[in-house]
Amino acid sequence: MNDKKTAGEDYKKTLNLPQTEFPMRGSLPEREPPMIERWHRDRIYYRMVEKNIGSKLGRFLLHDGPPYANGNIHLGHALNKVLKDVVIKYKNMCGYEAPFVPGWDCHGLPIELGVEKQLLDQKRDKAGMPITQLREMCREYAKKYIAVQKEQFNRLEVFGDWDDPYLTMDKRYVASIVRELGRCAAAGVLYKGNKPVHWCASCTTALAEAEIEYADKKSPSIYVKFDLTDDAIRAFPELAEIVRREGATRTSLIIWTTTPWTLPANLGISLHPEFDYVAIKVPALEGTEIWIVAKGLQESFERAAGFEKPSTTLLTFKAERLHRKNARHPFIDRNSLIMMGEHVTLETGTGAVHTAPGHGVDDYKIGMKYGLGTTAPVDDKGKFTTEFAEMQGQFVFKTNEPIIEKLRAGGHLVSRADIEHSYPHCWRCNTPVIFRATPQWFIGMEPRAGVGMTLRDRAKAAIREVRWVPSWGINRIMGMVESRPDWCISRQRTWGVPITVFYCESCNEPKADQGVFNAMADQIEAKGVDIWFTEPAEKLVPVGTKCSNCQGTKFKKERDILDVWFDSGVSHAAVCEKRDLGWPADLYLEGSDQHRGWFQTSLLTGVATRGKAPFRTVLTHGFVNDKSGKKMSKSKGNVTSPLDLMKTHGAEILRLWVVLEDYRNDVNFSMESLERVSESYRKIRNTIRFLLGNLYDFNPDKDLVSLNQLGDLDRWALARSSVVLEKIHSAYESYEFHQVYQQLVNFCSTDLSAVYFDILKDRLYTAGKSSPERRSAQTAMWLICDALTRSIAPILSFTAEEIWGYMPKRERRPESVFLGEFPSETELKPWSDPKLEEVFAKIWDVREIVLKALEEARKEKTIGHPREAKVTLAVEPAIRQNLSSTREDLGRLFLVSELELTSAPAGAEPVVATVTRVSGEKCARCWVYSKTVGESESHPELCSRCQEAIH
Ligand SMILES: [Zn+2]
Ligand SMILES: [Zn+2]
Ligand SMILES: [Zn+2]
Repeated sequence: MNDKKTAGEDYKKTLNLPQTEFPMRGSLPEREPPMIERWHRDRIYYRMVEKNIGSKLGRFLLHDGPPYANGNIHLGHALNKVLKDVVIKYKNMCGYEAPFVPGWDCHGLPIELGVEKQLLDQKRDKAGMPITQLREMCREYAKKYIAVQKEQFNRLEVFGDWDDPYLTMDKRYVASIVRELGRCAAAGVLYKGNKPVHWCASCTTALAEAEIEYADKKSPSIYVKFDLTDDAIRAFPELAEIVRREGATRTSLIIWTTTPWTLPANLGISLHPEFDYVAIKVPALEGTEIWIVAKGLQESFERAAGFEKPSTTLLTFKAERLHRKNARHPFIDRNSLIMMGEHVTLETGTGAVHTAPGHGVDDYKIGMKYGLGTTAPVDDKGKFTTEFAEMQGQFVFKTNEPIIEKLRAGGHLVSRADIEHSYPHCWRCNTPVIFRATPQWFIGMEPRAGVGMTLRDRAKAAIREVRWVPSWGINRIMGMVESRPDWCISRQRTWGVPITVFYCESCNEPKADQGVFNAMADQIEAKGVDIWFTEPAEKLVPVGTKCSNCQGTKFKKERDILDVWFDSGVSHAAVCEKRDLGWPADLYLEGSDQHRGWFQTSLLTGVATRGKAPFRTVLTHGFVNDKSGKKMSKSKGNVTSPLDLMKTHGAEILRLWVVLEDYRNDVNFSMESLERVSESYRKIRNTIRFLLGNLYDFNPDKDLVSLNQLGDLDRWALARSSVVLEKIHSAYESYEFHQVYQQLVNFCSTDLSAVYFDILKDRLYTAGKSSPERRSAQTAMWLICDALTRSIAPILSFTAEEIWGYMPKRERRPESVFLGEFPSETELKPWSDPKLEEVFAKIWDVREIVLKALEEARKEKTIGHPREAKVTLAVEPAIRQNLSSTREDLGRLFLVSELELTSAPAGAEPVVATVTRVSGEKCARCWVYSKTVGESESHPELCSRCQEAIH
């Protein structure tokens, strides 16, 4: 260096100021897409999984629940897929072979209705169209949205086997569905029955439990008289006696209903065998009537029926006295059988329950027990058939009033009111559904001939073997399986998998053997499923098939298709097993609504066909609501699209938002919370930028300093990192990603930025480029940057990959961060140093006191910059010992030019910091005040450290 150079400015060139190309701003919306393309081009997902084949940790299978191939993805989809993606990346980076095969649910009503709407818009007639043409349009519709959603999930940086996802309409998959149906037949749980199911008259199909939504509906609430027959009265002498004594004109059981339209299907009245019933005296226009209700409901009934004062009870008796006797139907010429049923309650009504086996589940059950059959005089469109000729062709809900009128005219109406109650609605079209008995295929939950333990009991046992996270999930699904009816799996629509059953032409006996299903599956796998619709039965039925009832050889095809929930419910077989991914899966991860949907249908098919649940762990997340906790819906206009957010903020911000909240509860979305996340992201990014900026001249292969040679402060930074990174590790391991977020953000802003970097700047910039103290700092920074990047990669995938590209590389380092390893305990263990952490924890306490004193001194203008300060610390012996136990220059830790330690006088505060102006000159290069400035002849403006540094 030239001796003449004395101006301070010139020394600036000798400082090691940070240099990096790593951009300050993320510019995520523009810069993410090229990175995503690069991942695809370089097949990073496939290589990430392949490198773990044969790993000693084995496989980890997270099986994707298929979203429905309809429309753009919404925030709920984004939450779900990001959570899965975090798990997949984490597991693979830990060394598990963790493939992710994404899937789509392709069949079903929403798509069929979408196509019907298209046809309507084009003024084309669906009626004249061949079924295969309609199905082709549905297929195209599904394909279109699969492509759309695939693109959108990719934009979210989700890794997976996007080259070969599973589609429930793919012929391989359909063949699996048919085989699984065959297995259900072989297991004895598949049967055809004629029992009431939820029926949407608007969509003209049966609906599964999962397709029902409850909403308020206004209905008439009526009390109706069913007169006892003379036989019934005669067989009950005490009652007969009262009737005679009172001269009663009629003696009636009173029922209550909110569905007058089901009265034409009434076949009986159910009473509870243990309840007391009362016969009460009711004055009527002509003479007296005797009415019978349960004693426990007498008061509420009389109030509802408008009694002015309590009635007189004539007789109290047990229901048994009327068992198997008859009442008369109020307007149809037939009897209504009096039955005993445990399902009768004292919650509402009269304790005498109107029973229409064709229109209710309990009604059906008790009707079967008493051999009543199932009358349901209602057609697919919800209109009365000729069986109730009087109102034939009228929509049932519209007949409530005429029926009530009829009851009134016949003197059978006690009273009417209107009520608002929770009523099942169709999930698709939001219209109220009806219960209607039709011939349907079922998976039976109840005891059946030839089946040992019921499917219900086996499913309950299987539930106990599964880990449910959060733990309340077990009670929820247990309760649902406990009370669910048989699963109706047939649908009367077009777009779905055919139920490949043949019926005997002559006796109509169904042929539903496993062999027939398997033969059909083979043909479907070879030629596609449409052969079922294009080929006649004789070409499809296996050669030599005979009717097991009449030995007939002519068959016709079943016309019903399968419930889509059966399609997705067998994905464990069609995907996990068929693709050799493993069975059961390690993890299913879906929204908590799937306890009654996919988790349950998967469980039932798994248990029915393989005796076990197809998953080991089930993790659920809540829903994404708007900022005030309301459900997002188009009609309310409170929907936020993830696509918009990716355009304005980038996928990284959305991913970080997903992990910010505890997803196990419902999460509320607001732009404010997204802005908070953006702010955190900037902090993380700045932290990383500082690290990268100071590593520009660091070559880890040459310059890495061994751990025991590091300075205490750098050693502390590593020790602290090991603690934080371990916490992050265990948060991932227990799927508590919000803890990852908390730890990460705190670590970056507090330990690193506010403390470590703050102190380090001086050393990094002013020490000799390759001096031991600078290399020591760089070693710690490089190790932290490297481990931190791998730790955040599962969440901040783009950012981690970006950092990976800017970091000084070791030789043979993998080209993508996702081909690297997640920081393991073995890797972090050597960094750990609890003793040193303890020493520094106490130093930081003292530092707080010093910083406060400096702030005071600045206010009082004793000093300008902290470097102008000399601090005298009077401390008690224990603290003094702690402060002296580090080799670090305490003045530098506290950012002052000079520090003196003295002992605190007895009785004083344990730490007292006194600030005075430092003596000595300001060094022109590092700006620290030092007595050594001026000592050198060649560089009189420099302190001794700087003189050394520039040589
Ligand atoms: Zn509907
Ligand atoms: Zn036959
Ligand atoms: Zn200096």
